[in-house]
Amino acid sequence: MEHYWIFADRKENFGIVTKFIPNPDLNQGKSRTHMKPRSWMRYKKSKIYNMRKFKQELGVDIVWQAHTHPSGNEKLHTIDRKILKYLSNGVMIIIIPEKPEENLKGNLIGWYYDKRYTKKPIIERMVFEVISE
Ligand SMILES: [Zn+2]
Repeated sequence: MEHYWIFADRKENFGIVTKFIPNPDLNQGKSRTHMKPRSWMRYKKSKIYNMRKFKQELGVDIVWQAHTHPSGNEKLHTIDRKILKYLSNGVMIIIIPEKPEENLKGNLIGWYYDKRYTKKPIIERMVFEVISE
């Protein structure tokens, strides 16, 4: 499982993904499965710190965390949900790597989560489209 930062620019109602880089904070350990953060507080602090840093230093509008689901599963894992619940609001992007030998097409699925104002969390799927110019 690999973790990334994804950067996007806002254009009207859209976010245009411009690039992504590995997230060394979460890539330690080379785990193949989902793992709970060792410290929830540190996870949250480091996420907020890095998002702010990237926005300032790179001048990007949107910073998202992403990780791969090599199984091809587009849904949030139980641990993904627990993390979002702890953060109470945020976006988690799932990257499905391309595997031609298994007929798996690469894909990008985003999940928006918000439980700040409602008892039941709002979970919305974000649609990504490939545009060529
Ligand atoms: Zn996941």
